[in-house]
Formats: sequence, structure tokens, C-alpha cells
Amino acid sequence: MAEKHIYRFGNDANGNNVTETAGKTVDEAKWITGGKGANLAEMANIGLPVPPGFTISCQTCVAYSSAGNVWPDGVLDEIDKYRKDLEERMGKKLGDKGDPLLVSVRSGAPFSMPGMMDTVLNLGLNDDSVQGLIKQTNNPRFAWDSYRRFITMFSDVVMGVDGQLFEDALNKKKAEKGVKLDTELDADDLKSLIPIYKQIFSDNVDSKKYPEVVVGGKPVFPTDPYLQLRLAEQAVFGSWNTPRAILYRQQNKIPDDLGTAVNVQVMVFGNKGNTSATGVAFTRNPADGTNERYGDFLVNAQGEDVVAGIRNTQPISELPKTPGLEEAGKELYHVFEILEDHYADMMDLEFTIEQGKLWMLQTRVGKRTALSALKVAIDMYNEGRISKETAVTRVAPEQLDQLLHPQFDPNAKYDVFAKGLNASPGAATGGVVFSSEDAEKFKKEGKPSILVRWETTPDDLKGMVDAEGILTSHGGKTSHAAVIARGMGAPCVCGVEALNIDAPNRTVTVSGSDVVLHEGDVISIDGSTGDVILGEVPLIRPQLGGDLKTILDWADEIRLNPKRGRIMGVRANADNPADAQLSADNGAEGIGLDRTEHMFLGDRKQLIQNFILAEDDDVKKESLEKLGEAQKGDFLGMFKAMDGKTVIVRLLDPPLHEFLDNPRDLEVEIAKEEAAGKDCTKKRELLTKLDSFQEANPMLGLRGCRLGLVYPELNDMQVRAIVSATAELIQQGYHPKTEIMIPLIAFEEEIKQIRKQIEDEIKKVSDEYGVELDIPIGNMVELPRCAIMSEDIAHHSDFFSFGTNDLTQTCLGFSRDDAEGTFMPVYFDRKIVKTNPFATLDKGVAQLVDMGVRGGHKGNPNIICGVCGETGGDPESIQMYYDLGLDYVSCSPYRVPIARLAAAQAKIHSNGGPVPVEKR
Ligand code: ADP
Ligand code: MG
Ligand code: MG
Repeated sequence: MAEKHIYRFGNDANGNNVTETAGKTVDEAKWITGGKGANLAEMANIGLPVPPGFTISCQTCVAYSSAGNVWPDGVLDEIDKYRKDLEERMGKKLGDKGDPLLVSVRSGAPFSMPGMMDTVLNLGLNDDSVQGLIKQTNNPRFAWDSYRRFITMFSDVVMGVDGQLFEDALNKKKAEKGVKLDTELDADDLKSLIPIYKQIFSDNVDSKKYPEVVVGGKPVFPTDPYLQLRLAEQAVFGSWNTPRAILYRQQNKIPDDLGTAVNVQVMVFGNKGNTSATGVAFTRNPADGTNERYGDFLVNAQGEDVVAGIRNTQPISELPKTPGLEEAGKELYHVFEILEDHYADMMDLEFTIEQGKLWMLQTRVGKRTALSALKVAIDMYNEGRISKETAVTRVAPEQLDQLLHPQFDPNAKYDVFAKGLNASPGAATGGVVFSSEDAEKFKKEGKPSILVRWETTPDDLKGMVDAEGILTSHGGKTSHAAVIARGMGAPCVCGVEALNIDAPNRTVTVSGSDVVLHEGDVISIDGSTGDVILGEVPLIRPQLGGDLKTILDWADEIRLNPKRGRIMGVRANADNPADAQLSADNGAEGIGLDRTEHMFLGDRKQLIQNFILAEDDDVKKESLEKLGEAQKGDFLGMFKAMDGKTVIVRLLDPPLHEFLDNPRDLEVEIAKEEAAGKDCTKKRELLTKLDSFQEANPMLGLRGCRLGLVYPELNDMQVRAIVSATAELIQQGYHPKTEIMIPLIAFEEEIKQIRKQIEDEIKKVSDEYGVELDIPIGNMVELPRCAIMSEDIAHHSDFFSFGTNDLTQTCLGFSRDDAEGTFMPVYFDRKIVKTNPFATLDKGVAQLVDMGVRGGHKGNPNIICGVCGETGGDPESIQMYYDLGLDYVSCSPYRVPIARLAAAQAKIHSNGGPVPVEKR
């Protein structure tokens, strides 16, 4: 049998439902007939009044587009068959001068893509059929109005003529007649517009692009309704590949190869007088989830008028009270119930009432805010419509971000003066500062600040912590500023190219504006939108309670239930007591990564510098001891905040030179001083020393476990600080669950030797305190060799933590800090990569993780495997981690609630989908 391209929906002439769904559910059918088509069919099947029509499949669109806009064999004949069938079902013919059939042509992809293509209404009108419409309706004004609207829409949407030209002609007519409103024009006025509109068409259509409409050498508005129909269908198919549709798909991660369906549907008219109306509605409140009918309608109006805001709409609750619309209004309220009962979700819908008769034109699952999603899911569970598992799948994890960070007060009014990338969610307001030191100074003085930098560096860390938000003029969504800000949960807008930052003079000028910002000038940023605002915008603070807590508790019930598939833990990456506390408050079951390098910054930088640079062994030793003391204090705080929960402490990881001053700065200083005749012998020695620590590829250099092999005393110091803090707390009656992690392991012999050293130190401390200690020792898996040789390495390891940032860099050979500014845009453009591999786990890197997990379990059946890279908080990656068999993910404290929800959803998804509604 030949491939089927077209599916029918609605009734036949005898009122029997003749909908074809190919035996599929809506979720299956939408891949063929698109969301709109599948739901029109579904509504017809459950007995709702749907104007009849047919749907040309998405696959036809794909075939048409990939053949270079050529119809596949046989489809045009099939369309003709279905068109005739529709005419028979309606007892009317397209273009008929007695009783014409009019149709709408509507696009509808598997995913809703608002604004992809406008709908063409009233198709089938021409100089003959407009007479038929007049005869049938006894309403010449309505008929001429419909005709001139059709010419406008068809020319604009299908033929690419600027709609404004028609609008101008209409306005000119109104001026001639001395009236203000369209409704004040009479039938003759509207009729007189038709030749003018046709002339606009002839003057503006590109005859090379549309040879079908060329008559006698120039474009003529097509009178043939079949040609009108074919051109409209082609335009819908073409709209799939317009730049705005492509961009929308890119932003919303919708595949490019789905295509859109075309729905051809019999017109119904909401503009036939005061017993006619059109409207849009939601079955519940999409803003806050309240169980109330929500929407607007307009009496005597057509199609887009409601959304276009030309006239003031009325709230849907008025509909059953409106004279002439009472019956249809009541029926609509009944339809709300039928839809919710059938779909068990909050639905949005479009309807039209033609002379008292209700018609349903569209329904789909309603888009909603996070607040509304939570409330609707919980209410629907309580109403017995859905199971807890379904409720948990009804909230998009990414959406929770809206609730977890401060936001601009939705009632605040403000103007955006510059825009950048929405790099880290949440809003902030504060005085402009240009350096880390100034952010610190503001903080000390109790003044909120926004750190404004060209791009941030590890040196800015302190200032990033102290500022309320971060704003940069360079760098993308995986720039240093963006990554660190997300990790800290700080709002960040980056890549605001309009900003010209003059940090030395503490001013910012803005391209294309005369705004000049000085230190302390208050600005506000919204890291969820990329907006930058002059002055203060009031903020509202988040709270982890109420509905959010309920859904997260339900998610945990599922996530931690061993009878319903594997348990998936959620831990946090935190390195100070405040963040540890936040992690616990947000529901983390432990700390998956405590990066100790942050403990070497600030006042302590001098100590580590002394250790690295001093010639004198006593000085070296003393600095180390002081560092150890300071670290121990930090660990005491961390372990207390996480009492009874696992805390994985990672030994020092970054290249040592990150703790040293920049030799180029020193070089400049020396040059200046020597020019002034000063003696700089000492400084020159220091410079030589600093230079000796410079590496061509520091990320592949002296770092990770290599540090402890070159400087064993560094490991002893760290282990002693970690272990003695643990022992001390045990003595005080606490229950610390400390674990030690070695970074950047590649060889079995590395971990074997370092483990031995750590165990010896633990033994020493244990003896000194007289406390039994059980401290697991594991390693990061962040080099391909480690993943490949995981079986051997696991012989010496109690746990693996996949560090996917480094693992991605070393697997792909991409330097994260460089890739984004150089070749990544080309890679996205050319679709070499579809998603950012540093944000969402790359498939190749996933293979390494898979290898690591399998080998790890072979080498040590009790090994615990987790992930602690940035992708640990990304819902899509969490699904992959569940399927790869990881025991937990660890992410920024702020993303813990998102990860809890995503992990529960991953588990549900990989275990056959949500269970049906429970019997209660
Ligand atoms: P969008 O996807 O942009 O919402 P639609 O295809 O839903 O576009 O069409 C927009 C509007 O046009 C509908 O809400 C409805 O008011 C009107 N419309 C579409 N088809 C018909 C029809 N057959 N009869 C009456 N109005 C229609
Ligand atoms: Mg619509
Ligand atoms: Mg690493």
C-alpha cells in the first residue's frame, strides 16, 4: 500500500465521526499529524464539536523540503481526494458562487512553536464566492470584510507581501470616510478596498518566486481556490525552515528533522453578530495554578483578534452571562470539565461561537509558570486524577530555577538599557564595582555591589562571592564568570558587548547611549533573562516551602525507594560551612566534592606562596603548619554542618602557579623601578623563580595528584588537617563521615603509592587521638586513561567520582576556557555539536563514564560511583547518569532541588514511566 499522507478529522454529512488517527494515542499521533492535528482528532473522538477538516502529515513536509520544495509523488492527488471528501461532508464547494466552502490553513508541528507561521483564514474567497457568502449570510459587510482580510493574510503570510501596505490602505480609507474604527466602515467601503488590495498584491509579489500567480507577465491575486490552497500548504511547509523557526528550535532543543503538519479546516465564524464570539482559555490559572477557569473572549470577532489586543476582551467568566451566548457559554464550561477529565492535565484551548453554536478549534497541554506547575500537579493528585509519580513528572526541573533565586518583583516597572547572555539565574541589584577588592570593600561597608568585569579570572573569586551579582562584557555561557557564578548560585549576565569597561578609571560607557556608570552607581541585573537595568529594581526572595517542598518530598520518596529501580543519590559541591548548610537545607544527602583549593586563597595565599617559594626549610615547614591549622578549622565547620552525612574532601588540585603572583606584573614593576634607578636584584630572583613555575599547558601540567607526588609534605599536611578535624569531632560526640579523594589519577601506581601515604597518616592521627577511624579513600576519574584502566585502579579505590569538566576537556581535547571564544560558535553553526558538551554530557564522554563504572565494579564490587562535574546538575545529563548506573550526582548547592526532581524523573522514565493513578 502506498504511504498515507493525509488524515481526516471531524464528522461526515450524517453527523458521524469519521476521524482517522491510525489507531494512535495523541502522544503517538502528534509525530505524524502534529500537536494541533492530533488534538483536533482527539477532541472529535471524545465527542466535542470540531469543525471538520484534514491534516497533511509532518513526514510529507520533510519529504517536500528535502526534495527542494517538490511534492512527493501522489500527494497532490491525495490532497484532491480529501478536499473533495471534505466538500461532500459539508455539502459545499470551495469557490462556489452559491454556497461556498471556506477553510483555514493552519500549521502544527509535534511541538508547539508559537509564531512560526500565521494562520490563513477564509481561504476560498474570490470575486464569485464572495457573492455566495453574501447570499448565505445576508450580510454583505461580513462577506466583504472576510474577503479583504483573506487577501491581506494570504498576501502577507503566503506570498511575503508586507502586511503594513494593506493596513495603510485601510487607514487611508478610514481617513477618507472620516472614521476611526474598522467597524465604522460599511460594506461598500470594504468592497471598494478589494481592487486596491489586489493592486498591492500585483505590485509587491515576487513573480520569479511565485510563477504560479503570474498572468500576462504580472502577478495577479489567484482566484482559483485550489491554487490558493496549494500555495498556502506550501507556505506552511516552507515556514518550517524560516530563520526564526530554526532559531526557536535551537533555543528549545527541538530537532530540525520533524517537519510540520498542515491542517485544512472548515471555517466557522465568530464575527457573525452578537451571538457569535471567539476566545482562548485555560482550564486553570497558568500563572499561579488556582483551580479556576481562565481566559478571555470577544463578541463578534474572528481569530487572532483576541490575542492581538485590538479590542478590549472580556473575562471568560462573563461568557455564560452574556445575552445570546448563555447556552454556548455553559457548554464551554462543560467542555472544560470533559477536557480535564480526559487529559488529566491543565489544558489551554481556542474556541469560536458561531450564532450561538460552540466550536472547538484547538487544545493542548497548557504552558505554565513553575508556581502553577507545582500547584496543578499537587491538586490533580489530590483530586485523584493522576498518580504521585505523574505529578512529579509534571514539573520541569529547569523551571524550578525560577523559584530558587531572587527575582525582580513582577510588579516592578523598569527599562532595560543593555542586554547580554542569561548566564546564571536570579536577579541582583547593587553598586557598580570594578575589582574583587572593591567588592570586598563594599561588602565590609554593608553595601551591595555588582562586580563589573571584562571577563573574570580565578583572582576575582573573592569578589564574586562578595558581590550580589556579576556582569561581564565578554565571554559566553561557559565562560569563567558563568561557570563560577552558577556554581555559587550568583546571578550573572555575561557578554554584554555594549559595555566599554574602563576599570583603571572606574567608569563604563555604553555603546549607542550617553550613559556613563561610575563606581557605586546602582544597577540591577537579571541573570535569567540577560537584562541590565539602571537603578534599583525591587527583589523578591525565594523560599523552599509549600508546594515546592511537597513535590520534592514526593520526588525523594520515588528516588530513594529501592523497590522502584536503583536509588539515585544527590549530593552537593561545597567548600565552606555556609554552602554546606545550604546544601543540607536544599536536601543534599552529602558533599560530593569539597574543593580544598578555595581554602588557600585570601589571607592564606601568602602562606602557600611562602611554602612554594621559600628557600629555607623552616619557613616552608612553618607555612605548611599554619595552613594545616587554618584548614582544620574549615573542616571542623564543614563536618559539623554535614554531621552524619558523607563529605568527600578532595586533595589540592590546581596548578601551583595559580597561587603565585603573575610574573608579568612583577616584570613591569621591576622595569619601572629600575628605570627610576632602584636596585631590584631580589625582585629579579623572585621573577626567575616565578617564571620557573610557568607551564605551557598548565591544565596538563603539575597539578592534581602530581602535586602530592612532587611535594609529599603537602599531602601529609592536608590529610592531617582533614583527619584530626574528624577525630576531634568524634571525641565531641559528632558523627562525621569523612572521605578523602585524590584528583587526576591516570595510573594504578599513582593511587597505590598515594593511598599508602594517606593510610599511614590516618593511622598516626588515629593513634594520637586514640579514636578508631574509618575514612574511605577514592579518586576522581577525569582522564581517559583512568576510565580505560578503571579495573586496575579500582583495586585501590573505595569510590570513583567522575569529574566531567576535565574528562570532557581531555576526551575532546577542548580547552573549556578557550573553546567558547574561538571555534565553538562554528561547531554549533555547522551542527558538529548539538549541545554544549560542558553543560550536557557528551555521548563520547558518556562512553568513558560507562567504561569507568563497569571496570570499577570489576576491580572492586563495592565501589561507589558518582559524578561531580557541572553536568551533575543538568537534568538531561542526570537521565544519562541514571542509565549509566551511577549511585549519585553532585552539583552546586543551588541546583540540589533541581537534581532531586530530575533524578526522580530519570528513574521513573527508565523504569517504564509513571505508574497509573493509585486506587485510594
Ligand atoms: P496558532 O498556532 O498561531 O494559534 P491557529 O492555527 O491556532 O494558529 O490559528 C489562530 C486562530 O485562527 C485560532 O485561534 C482561531 O481563532 C482562528 N482559526 C483557525 N482556524 C479556524 C477555523 N477553521 N475557523 C475559525 N477560526 C479559525
Ligand atoms: Mg492557536
Ligand atoms: Mg578536575
